[in-house]
Amino acid sequence: MQRVRLGLKGPDVSEICFGSLAISPLQGRVSEKQGQEILRYAVTKGIDWVDTAEIYENYNQLNPVLKDHPELKVVTKSYSVTSEELFNSLEKARKQLDREIIDIFLLHEQESHLTLKGHAQAWNALLEAKAKGLVKYIGISTHAIQGVKAGALQPGLDIIHPLINYQGLGIIDGSLKGMLEAIGFASELGIGMYAMKVFGGGHLARHPERALKFIRSIPGVQAMALGMSSIQEVDFNLALISGKEVTEELRNSIIHRERKLYIADWCQGCGNCVRTCPQKALYLKDGHACLHGEGCILCGYCGRSCPHFCLKIV
Ligand code: SF4
Ligand code: SF4
Repeated sequence: MQRVRLGLKGPDVSEICFGSLAISPLQGRVSEKQGQEILRYAVTKGIDWVDTAEIYENYNQLNPVLKDHPELKVVTKSYSVTSEELFNSLEKARKQLDREIIDIFLLHEQESHLTLKGHAQAWNALLEAKAKGLVKYIGISTHAIQGVKAGALQPGLDIIHPLINYQGLGIIDGSLKGMLEAIGFASELGIGMYAMKVFGGGHLARHPERALKFIRSIPGVQAMALGMSSIQEVDFNLALISGKEVTEELRNSIIHRERKLYIADWCQGCGNCVRTCPQKALYLKDGHACLHGEGCILCGYCGRSCPHFCLKIV
């Protein structure tokens, strides 16, 4: 697989990053062990970095694979606001992933310069952690155009993980055009970027060639995180990215069960999920959580916030 450098300063990585949300308990598609096997398989095929986050709750799942593959780089993210929270998150990641140094650490879901301002303490702690050699590269993930713009201007930032796909699905504060402009701006400043939600959370999965081709056509986006929850999906994505012919059998094996967010009848209307959803895709009606279908990118974050286990991607 093609190798790329993220931005001006590196690191050098495979063009595809293994998005581990798809094998995490948050999405519940595969067992812990099956997830490990899929990741191991991807590593044998040349994928040399894995994307996770504290919220995915899968450090223990990744740990044995990382142990067996010291060359495998790891990205993680946290919602830390204070310096103390950031150092706690970092320690948790180092301990549970059994890594002295975290390759890339991102502040999760930064929406604008105001969000970054609110996380100033955590950012300063990240800079400190980098100076101490506990983290190699630092940055943000974002679903927002203003997040990309603010990240690009953030002192010391190396990497942005922006949400981008050919329909602009999931961009929370504007159009695809606006996001491309923001990415262009960050790129001119030498920021490394790898794309998130390339298939729009599954909504664009019927046109995978188009989805990948679009990402590869964006100057300044060097790589992409792809969530994969089966061996076939790994084979399929690798075939597409290397321009190899995809057999009908392989294509049919993964294209593509429509997924959706299921909200159970026993919802109590507490509103936790509404407040959690980064896409503002949920609302309350008559004491029950409801979904604006087109806004949901099937990230699964809301499921974690429900005290009554009402939310599941099926
Ligand atoms: S509704 Fe749930 S799964 Fe859909 S985008 Fe919001 S948090 Fe993610
Ligand atoms: S968090 Fe659960 S119980 Fe609360 S509104 Fe959402 S689905 Fe209903």
